[in-house]
Amino acid sequence: MWPADISPAVLEIDLGAIVANWRLLSARHPAGAVGGVVKADAYGLDAQKVAPALQQAGCRHFFTALLEEALTLRPLLPGAMLAVLDDPIVGTEHVYREQGIVPVLGSLDEIGRWQAEARRAGTSLEAILHIDTGMARLGLMEREVLTLAADPSLLEGISIRYVMTHLVSAEYPEDPLNESQRERFESLAARLPPAPRSLANSSGIFLGSHFASDLARPGAALYGINPTPGEPNPMHPVVRLSARVLAVRALEAGRSVGYNATWRALRPSRIATLGVGYADGWPRSLSNRGAAFFDGRRLALVGRVSMDLTTYDATGLAHLAPGAWLELIGPAQPLAAVAEAAGTNEYEVLTSLGRRYHRVWRGA
Ligand SMILES: *Cc1c(COP(=O)(O)O)cnc(C)c1O
Repeated sequence: MWPADISPAVLEIDLGAIVANWRLLSARHPAGAVGGVVKADAYGLDAQKVAPALQQAGCRHFFTALLEEALTLRPLLPGAMLAVLDDPIVGTEHVYREQGIVPVLGSLDEIGRWQAEARRAGTSLEAILHIDTGMARLGLMEREVLTLAADPSLLEGISIRYVMTHLVSAEYPEDPLNESQRERFESLAARLPPAPRSLANSSGIFLGSHFASDLARPGAALYGINPTPGEPNPMHPVVRLSARVLAVRALEAGRSVGYNATWRALRPSRIATLGVGYADGWPRSLSNRGAAFFDGRRLALVGRVSMDLTTYDATGLAHLAPGAWLELIGPAQPLAAVAEAAGTNEYEVLTSLGRRYHRVWRGA
């Protein structure tokens, strides 16, 4: 990694805030444990730094999406449960067993394969059973749960660490899907051998004590994403993105800016250029919609977002010169504001943040 002073943009990641968020979620979920979802490289913030920091704070259960992600983290998280949310790919069962990674099983076929692995190893093996209650992506369907209930031998050799499901609309508390999924989960899980339950994601933790379980699985809220959209964000902000002005130019009225000339100066203007573009995950949909902030002043993003550059209307900011730092994500422009202007959600903006930013970790 090169030093910050040659980088056009700096991404600051506050590990202390991530830990504080985990503690806050744990306090809101007193009936059960709170794990950490660190898939997609901890939502783009570096799982190899985030996961050990969470473990040090007391987090004992971790989830990735991919087996590869879990393999990278396994040596860094001694003693912790490490589970892979995506279904195991045929033929990878021995890797899970050898590396002590817990598979999340979502079909009778997967259960059969894991049972065969246990038989080969001459031992019983832990697994999480995933029941589909409405997402319809992964997870056991009702018919499969009933098959398991009717024939206990199908689960022989498998020690069920948790039975889980995933909420479809937890960020909308008034959505009746939440309650119907919860009821469906309870009634289907009751057909299986007794085992601890895992239900809530970040927003699920805020749905109330009905949605508490033995293990909550938050991701987003750990990283500062608002689990209660439309209400004040109860989480600590985690990221700050700043970029320095590379160039400033005066523009006569009538001149255009950027590809396809989608913005035209109506008056004599000053344009500030930043070295951040869509290749850095600064969404192209922010073209003529986004903003940057300087000293509390809003500079409108003008013209198209380019691959490596964006342009801002700095008219009236006579003292803004190359080298000045503009805020892209921070107190003046939180992640939620960027997501809204880009027409997407905070998850997508966060997980897209580029690898070219100079990254600085605080509270490490
Ligand atoms: C991503 C994911 C989570 C975490 O969801 P957040 O909304 O980020 O808290 C929990 N469970 C499953 C199955 C997931 O895929």
